[in-house]
Amino acid sequence: MQLGAGLRRALARISGAAVVDEKAVRDMVKELQRALISNDVSVQLVADLSSRIERRALAEKPPAGANPREHVVKIVYDELAGLMGEKYTPDVKKKRVLLLGLFGAGKTTSAAKIAKFYKDRGLKTGLLACDTFRPAAYEQLSQLGTTLGVPFYGEKGAKDAAAVAAKGLAALKDCDVIIADSSGRSALDPDLIDELKRLTAAFRPDEKILVVAADLGQVAGKQAEQFNKAVGVTGVLVTKMDGSGRGGGALSSVHATGAKVAFIGVGEKLGDLEPFDAKKFVAGLLGFPDLPALLERIKTVAEEEKIEPEEMLEHFNFRTFQEQLRATKKMGPLSKVFGMMGMVDLPPEMMAQSETKLKKYDAMIGSMTKAEREKPELLKERKRIERIAKGAGAKPEDVREMIKQFEQMAKLFKQFKSNKGMRKKLEQMMASGKMPRIGG
Ligand code: GDP
Ligand code: MG
Repeated sequence: MQLGAGLRRALARISGAAVVDEKAVRDMVKELQRALISNDVSVQLVADLSSRIERRALAEKPPAGANPREHVVKIVYDELAGLMGEKYTPDVKKKRVLLLGLFGAGKTTSAAKIAKFYKDRGLKTGLLACDTFRPAAYEQLSQLGTTLGVPFYGEKGAKDAAAVAAKGLAALKDCDVIIADSSGRSALDPDLIDELKRLTAAFRPDEKILVVAADLGQVAGKQAEQFNKAVGVTGVLVTKMDGSGRGGGALSSVHATGAKVAFIGVGEKLGDLEPFDAKKFVAGLLGFPDLPALLERIKTVAEEEKIEPEEMLEHFNFRTFQEQLRATKKMGPLSKVFGMMGMVDLPPEMMAQSETKLKKYDAMIGSMTKAEREKPELLKERKRIERIAKGAGAKPEDVREMIKQFEQMAKLFKQFKSNKGMRKKLEQMMASGKMPRIGG
């Protein structure tokens, strides 16, 4: 199972739960564990993550502007991002970059990808072939250089990587960024360590980027540790994130060693490279690339509307009802909001209906008099209902339906008012700018 699908299934346990209680949180966490462990995330990391999510989901109060569901989604999102790493912002400036790693990790391909990355950002970039172990490496990098149209230096048949580097630095001295490829081995042995040390002394890289393949899973973290200890690394590039069922394991294990995930390779083409951004990565997995935007919007709406739970409890009338409706509407098309929350399985007609209803209700309340808005009991009169319907371009039965919805909610409020625990829940709910069952 792909990691994203598994994580979305876990979130569906929360978005689909009737209430966000201990059981719902536990169910979700179990599903999360399954998804992460099948992606080769270490059992220890998964256990730590689970207990943090459970503790926060049950103990923390949703901040202003988030209901309990959104709050839990945000906790999961934050924690997953924290598990995978941070955000890497490459310095676009003059520098020397050395790529290192074992056979087949993707060093040579990534050297060209990074060259393209800086070239696209306006820097003069050159490629330097320091893999003197594998005869074909020279050809491969030379061809990639030609494809990219960037300067290349290498010596066919050379044996001493450090000597090539020294000459290469002179040959490529006009370049702002020099990317050096290096030799791999099947394991980090003393021979490779020695070669890398001598290469480093000659090339004097500003960045030493370890290249590891995502399909190593947790082993990527072990390699990061070993290479760092032996020759020092400044960042890790995880290749083959496309299609690997272990990318989560690779990223999280690298991050756990304290090494920084710098780039991810997401395909075989030269453009398939991204500076790593854990939040963006996780948002993509969860299926809502706009999650940060959504959460921000919820917050702003709540602040703008300034709906005071206390006021709402004391005076629940059509005015406060309308404020709630508007806050809900401002969050954007409901379909999008639901989609972002992982509630992708709602039938589209139901979402379309909810949106239409929100608009209709708003229009109806808009055609009430001020007195009617503040004293709902006035709406017992048929004449008023007919007038409101006409003003809103609706039918009287539509207005009655809206009143019924309003009354249901008013009843709920009354119950809440006399019950402390429920009252707290309601206040949280209202802080989100959302009401239950509107147009549901
Ligand atoms: P090296 O031995 O470390 O230099 O590895 P190479 O750069 O020669 O790459 C080994 C193989 O991995 C090649 O077939 C590449 O096309 C492939 N590869 C490298 N990076 C990626 C990636 O991000 N995604 C995919 N799908 N393949 C990649
Ligand atoms: Mg190579």
